[in-house]
Amino acid sequence: MIDFQEARIRMVREQLVARGIRDQSVLMAMQKVERHRFVSCENQSRAYDDMPLPIPSYQTISQPYIVALMTELLKLKPDDCVLEIGTGSGYQTAILAELSRLVYSIERNPVLAALAQDLLIDQLEYSNIQIQVGDGTIGWIEKSPFQAIIITAGAPAIPENLVDSLANYGNMVVPVGSHDYQELMVVSKRGDSYISKKICNCVFVPLIGKEGWPEE
Ligand code: SAM
Repeated sequence: MIDFQEARIRMVREQLVARGIRDQSVLMAMQKVERHRFVSCENQSRAYDDMPLPIPSYQTISQPYIVALMTELLKLKPDDCVLEIGTGSGYQTAILAELSRLVYSIERNPVLAALAQDLLIDQLEYSNIQIQVGDGTIGWIEKSPFQAIIITAGAPAIPENLVDSLANYGNMVVPVGSHDYQELMVVSKRGDSYISKKICNCVFVPLIGKEGWPEE
């Protein structure tokens, strides 16, 4: 029998604190959200390992450290509205929901969107999450502007369309680069312009859509 609580304590200490994640609210959310609920039966024993894991439709649930880092970079406040592109398993969505007022999450794959909707809303009873199926690079105009935007798939360039949906002084975190290899970037909105900063190298599945990569 796996002690998941103990595995999470170890994950926070050895993978997050040891690598420099300092935001206490992020560490608390990572301690609270049960990652094993978001992975398949055969991956239960690896749920808190230092790695991404497969989820249906050949997609991945991100490595815990990357989830924590991207969340920390957003600098969320409890009253913020967040837009997430790429719901995937819904794990990152749950972390965001612990730290903000409302999370709008867009997933292009209807199977993943339905699974995440069932887990997050019906089973885990998050009342501050809305999931939509579609191309997230188009954004969610009716709900904009957002204080924070997180893109959990690799984009060929900073999606300008989504920068327009960012509130002034809001932050967007996005992996930008080639199909197979990216740099994690933070984009901070300043009036009609923005400042961008490279954080580290990373590897994400491709962002597919109007401001992403073409479907193969
Ligand atoms: N953060 C997720 C988690 O915790 O499980 C992992 C996300 S996975 C790395 C990337 C997701 O982005 C995939 O589920 C993929 O289908 C989705 N995706 C790719 N392009 C997209 C787009 N244009 N709009 C919405 N979702 C997209």
